[in-house]
Amino acid sequence: MSGTVVVVGGGLVGLAVAHALVGRGREVVVVEKEPDWARHQSGHNSGVIHSGLYYRPGSLKARLATEAARTLPEVCAEWGVTARRTGKLVVATRTEELPRLHALHERGLANGVPVDLLSPAAAREIEPHVACVAALHVHSTGVCDFPGLARALAERLAAAGAELRTSERVTALDRGHGRVRVVTDRGEISATHAVVCAGLQADAFLAPAARRQVRIVPFRGEYWTLRRPDLVRGLVYPVPDPTMPFLGVHLTRGWDGEVHVGPNAVLALAREGYRRRDVDPREAADALGFAGLWRLGRRYAVTGAQEAWRSLVPPAFLRTVRRMLAEVSAEDLQRRPAGVRAQAVLRDGSPADDFVVRGGPLVTHVVNAPSPGATACLQIGAHVAERLLARAAL
Ligand SMILES: Cc1cc2nc3c(=O)[nH]c(=O)nc-3n(C[C@H](O)[C@H](O)[C@H](O)COP(=O)(O)OP(=O)(O)OC[C@H]3O[C@@H](n4cnc5c(N)ncnc54)[C@H](O)[C@@H]3O)c2cc1C
Repeated sequence: MSGTVVVVGGGLVGLAVAHALVGRGREVVVVEKEPDWARHQSGHNSGVIHSGLYYRPGSLKARLATEAARTLPEVCAEWGVTARRTGKLVVATRTEELPRLHALHERGLANGVPVDLLSPAAAREIEPHVACVAALHVHSTGVCDFPGLARALAERLAAAGAELRTSERVTALDRGHGRVRVVTDRGEISATHAVVCAGLQADAFLAPAARRQVRIVPFRGEYWTLRRPDLVRGLVYPVPDPTMPFLGVHLTRGWDGEVHVGPNAVLALAREGYRRRDVDPREAADALGFAGLWRLGRRYAVTGAQEAWRSLVPPAFLRTVRRMLAEVSAEDLQRRPAGVRAQAVLRDGSPADDFVVRGGPLVTHVVNAPSPGATACLQIGAHVAERLLARAAL
């Protein structure tokens, strides 16, 4: 039986899932609650095409990001979206970071990522103002206008006959009689399948039993603009803490030529809590009722407190940045809008470390699609489409 598939969420993942389904001959409706595409994570991120360096070999993140880094700049060129391969440095600023830098080098090679180990002198040739004791040079990293990519996907979907609805919020998914009724604040759509790509709300439509096992935890990532962009030529990342799901504050010359510093990772008190003062009591109560959040809190108490401190105390943040870029001063940093990451956390308090897609014959849930989800959106779209066409009678 063939019929309509409804995609909930018009971020990069939802649009890419819709694109993959339309490409496989399916009728698709995309429903987005905001007035335009990519208003949340897809429009508030670092704009980096990740290479696949960091992720566990064999994981979806490793496979899909490595492929995306190989292909996305060419796709963007074809679609008229600004993107380019820039390469990036991962810099060890202290000798105790060297074993982790070497482990990252090994991991990159295992994932098929083009990466070299550099001496401080060789790193200085690429980034003259950056200090390090050793560095990795990753060749396939790039930058991309991700909101532009979302617009290009929406245009291609419209041209292919998909129905695109903005300013419409999905409020319920009712399963029954082999169909799913997608209820919205403007009406309802009868579909053969629904795919939930709702980012920060990705757990909203999970069955209660599944929702007891996993919950989205929002982590705000704050950014600063570097007023002396001449200090940074490309992309400079620290050696990440392997126990953390985030990469650490980095320096990025974006697709528009601006250099930004960030993002940090601070627990947000609202799913769409872009400002420190944003608190959603209902969401906060829901989060506090989830055992995984308390376990996460205990596990990352020290790191979490340090991140919050650096967010509140500019000199502490500056010290972190100066490890890589000694010349930067407080006057060189100007706050810019933050993003909020949707990170799925399991009941045992561990952050899900891979993309997670779940579901059955009527509904598929993209439960975890954090970074490098923008990079790998087209691959995630194809993965989800193949999965649901194999499982559901569409
Ligand atoms: C600070 C930060 C930095 C990042 N840096 C990078 C990077 O450099 N490179 C990279 O590859 N990735 C990066 N990421 C990750 C990347 O942005 C995400 O992986 C990607 O955007 C996820 O896309 P998405 O469509 O799943 O989510 P989103 O873009 O959040 O889209 C979900 C959409 O669902 C809609 N929605 C939710 N509920 C409903 C409902 N009930 N009805 C209708 N619509 C609904 C929302 O309004 C939203 O538009 C970063 C993320 C953040 C936050």
